Amino acid sequence: WAQRANALRIDGRSVIDGKRLDAVDGQTFAKHSPIDNRPLGAVVRGQAADIDLAVRSARAAFTDRRWAGKAPAVRKKLLQRFAEKILGAKEELALLETLDMGKPIQYALSVDVPSAARCIAWYAEAVDKIYDEIAPTPDTALALITREPMGVIGAIVPWNYPMIMAAWKLGPALAAGNSVVLKPSEKSPYTALRLAELAVEAGIPPGVFNVVPGYGHEAGEALAMHMEVDAIGFTGSTRVGRRMYEYAGKSNLKRVYNELGGKSAFLVFKDHEDIARAARTVAGSMFFNQGESCNAPSRVLVQDDIADEFAQMVAAEAPKYAPGDPLNAATELGALVDETQMRTVLSYIDAGHQEGAKVLAGGRQARAETGGFYVEPTVFADVNNGMKIAREEIFGPVVGIIRFKSEEEAVALANNSSYGLQASVWSHNINRAHRVARALKAGTVHVNQYDEDDITVPFGGFKQSGNGRDKSLHAFDKYTELKTTWIRLD
Ligand code: NAD
Repeated sequence: WAQRANALRIDGRSVIDGKRLDAVDGQTFAKHSPIDNRPLGAVVRGQAADIDLAVRSARAAFTDRRWAGKAPAVRKKLLQRFAEKILGAKEELALLETLDMGKPIQYALSVDVPSAARCIAWYAEAVDKIYDEIAPTPDTALALITREPMGVIGAIVPWNYPMIMAAWKLGPALAAGNSVVLKPSEKSPYTALRLAELAVEAGIPPGVFNVVPGYGHEAGEALAMHMEVDAIGFTGSTRVGRRMYEYAGKSNLKRVYNELGGKSAFLVFKDHEDIARAARTVAGSMFFNQGESCNAPSRVLVQDDIADEFAQMVAAEAPKYAPGDPLNAATELGALVDETQMRTVLSYIDAGHQEGAKVLAGGRQARAETGGFYVEPTVFADVNNGMKIAREEIFGPVVGIIRFKSEEEAVALANNSSYGLQASVWSHNINRAHRVARALKAGTVHVNQYDEDDITVPFGGFKQSGNGRDKSLHAFDKYTELKTTWIRLD
């Protein structure tokens, strides 16, 4: 993989109207790999003028109905081809993703590329299988309830799963007949740009899917403020999610769908029959993707009697996730996305020490000699829910273990968070499992597992974890308008 990485052709130009373009003002920024800080090339630093070009292209494509006007069976076929193109470019896309944001190549290959392709293929299949409604009104009239594409969707996505997050927006938005302008994270722009080229190769008309890279406060803000953008599908931090509402309020009241951060609780009761499996699951889910997952189970709540034993079990798992070269096919935990993120994670580890939590594993920077940005998988015990490391999203391989005495206390602690993305309850008491699952304020609750996931189910949060739902047929709600048409029957 290292050799192939050296030979890879990397293009950081925008894709607008099916063509690769430099920025209108010619500006670029330099992108480096978090693996070893090697330069990857110049990326377009998109500004309002570039966003405007892309939005105009998307609007023209929507207005002349070159996409929305195609028969559903044709849109389905073209989206299926797009998914096939993604799979066909699997190794190139995986390598780009790994170089760009530091995740292990084995997971870019086995998770990121296939999940993105499956997402597009799944929405493709739905295109000609969804029916509209006729309302049960009196005989004097007929009321049709139909869904229409909105127009131009702006998608702004983060760097932790660049391709999957893009696909979660693209799949339903394109399947519904919209045009899309995607602004990838400045920390991981490359795979989104390739996806746009592959879409055109698949036969999706130019202009239907445009990508403009750039910084959030420049290209991102311009997209979210644009008067010709009908909805923003945003995935990212809660801090920036708030701004999306401001932009909408200051511009055209575009719909805002936010998929934001998390501080997910993982509750382990002493009646669980296999707490070793629970401990392995905490480590596996927490350290996957270097802990840079919105749904990472970063607050582990454990019943008093088993808390010490459980903490030791999780700590014993940590060495299996020793940071390694992401281009080595055996590596489990790769590089954090950049130096800023690494410094943030290390500062949270310092905060944990200062507030009196106890490190059972990890806690330090690793592989500094490579020039890249690595942190050891870190397990804190003796955490309480008021500590900074229990309240704020760290977005790195750091987990905290908190004790509880009773079921009521466990639920109260779990829900005492501004976030509500996911949660997990581990118990072999079926009544307790149901009771607690109902009481937890989270968009997804797992029982006796954590990792099950599928494109068929919604993904999103309660509270400050957001308002939209990605995935499943529910995602169509975000990118369509409901219309009622009354027809008089004489
Ligand atoms: P971020 O909020 O910093 O950036 C996300 C995107 O917003 C990037 O493309 C960025 O360029 C853009 N942006 C930044 N400032 C902007 C501004 N002022 N105006 C417009 N756009 C702006 O988030 P991040 O660091 O890239 O990603 C990590 C966050 O994403 C975490 O909080 C994580 O939990 C969250 N996330 C959530 C989900 C989910 O489905 N709920 C999934 C993945 C990641």
